[in-house]
Amino acid sequence: MEQIPEDWKRGVVIVAHPDDIEYGAAAAVARWTGQGKDVRYVLATSGEAGIAALPPAECGPLREEEERRSAAVVGVHEVEFLGHPDGRLQEGLELRRDLAAAIRRHRPEFVLTMNHRETWGPGFLNSADHRALGQSVLDAVSDAANEWIFPELTEPRWTGVRWVAVNVMVGATHAVDVTDTVDTAVASLAEHSRYLQALSDVPVAEQAREQIEMATGPKDGFAADRAVGFELFQF
Ligand SMILES: [Zn+2]
Repeated sequence: MEQIPEDWKRGVVIVAHPDDIEYGAAAAVARWTGQGKDVRYVLATSGEAGIAALPPAECGPLREEEERRSAAVVGVHEVEFLGHPDGRLQEGLELRRDLAAAIRRHRPEFVLTMNHRETWGPGFLNSADHRALGQSVLDAVSDAANEWIFPELTEPRWTGVRWVAVNVMVGATHAVDVTDTVDTAVASLAEHSRYLQALSDVPVAEQAREQIEMATGPKDGFAADRAVGFELFQF
């Protein structure tokens, strides 16, 4: 297992929903912002279908606010929502175009996204939104660099992405040592308080601690007490 490259200045984390980044990846983000890197978040949806009994028109703004607070905890101050429908993300040209435009606006060298595979591991199905989003991000990196695929985009093309790191539970090729940022990641996840309260009666702080400890376990062949794993794609 190799160390994720860290010789970059600007990174963008692109996910489907508020809270996706906070279940582990934010520990790596906290490390990178601590190194002085510029990291931004782009979310395809506002997570408006994510809380039972809370109508989307109320839920969306609340979850955007929770995401902004979570981001601030790990030193991220630019958070963009693309307004695609939560639960109904479709892998395809429309999503790829909007993601390519976002990549062109933010001009990252490093992109982080979520697992796009069918499962999280044997027996744990990944969601339709996550599959659509992750695959479309990988495709959109090339779209962002090509002036002919989406000629209607007004942002100039961006050929500077060097890596896409996909946050995975199994099959990681690379890892990041997050031993020093676990507590920050717990605090970041705990900002999703309304969402977590709806998921379980366990107090939010306890849920956040348990989830982050699970997501940042030591990785085989990587010398760190706490680590987050990724599959790394080079461009
Ligand atoms: Zn999600």
